[in-house]
Amino acid sequence: MSRQKIAAGNWKMNKDLNEAVKMVLFLKDQDRPKDTLTVLGVPFPFLQTCINETIGSTDLIVAAQNCHHKESGAFTGEVSVPMLKSIGVSHVIVGHSERREYFMETDEMVGIKVRILLNHSMVPIFCCGEPLEVRKEGSHESYVKNQISKALFTLNKEEIIKLIIAYEPIWAIGTGETASPEQAQEMHHTIRTHLKAKFGKVSDEISILYGGSVNPGNAKELFSQTDVDGGLVGGASLQEEGFLSIIHSF
Ligand code: PEP
Repeated sequence: MSRQKIAAGNWKMNKDLNEAVKMVLFLKDQDRPKDTLTVLGVPFPFLQTCINETIGSTDLIVAAQNCHHKESGAFTGEVSVPMLKSIGVSHVIVGHSERREYFMETDEMVGIKVRILLNHSMVPIFCCGEPLEVRKEGSHESYVKNQISKALFTLNKEEIIKLIIAYEPIWAIGTGETASPEQAQEMHHTIRTHLKAKFGKVSDEISILYGGSVNPGNAKELFSQTDVDGGLVGGASLQEEGFLSIIHSF
């Protein structure tokens, strides 16, 4: 995969089936820039229906918000990568800070998920980002670099370019407080440089998204930063017109 503009929504635990389908049909109907990939992070129960609505589309696709780190087994209530693959899911968000915080997911677990997804020719949307106290003490760059090294540095060059990376400072998620465009660019550059040190030039081909209170009012400036290839958007991806405006912000 090569670097591209991406507007990814993460609906989290919101919407019912009717609302989910309505959103997909709305976006399908609208003029969207041809060079921008729109991704919808849909709750598990609606994946199949939403995928059926987007079959044949290359610029509007559906992603799962999580997967389990084992391929199968006695894990009641969990959803495996092969299950997602079997219903046509191509992209999966892994390591979202809410999964890390509320479900005790570690870098190691997230790394295993990435590995399984790649083994099944699927695209991991790998999330990383620092909590507020780490930002305040000034060690955010080493914190994020460490998350990346632990989860991703067993991959090779051919594998790493298949990922989408989302930098999401935890203090900006769902808080209304956004990283400034300069703060986003600084961290995205740090991430790309860190990847370059390990994987070389291919790092220029990796899409790195910013996430954290992106909205129609700030998306344009954030997305115009050199190393920001788009956004992973939570709250603002739930509203039709608002998300469409974000898609048009490149
Ligand atoms: C997210 O959930 O990934 C996110 C960035 O949420 P929000 O846009 O609401 O901050």
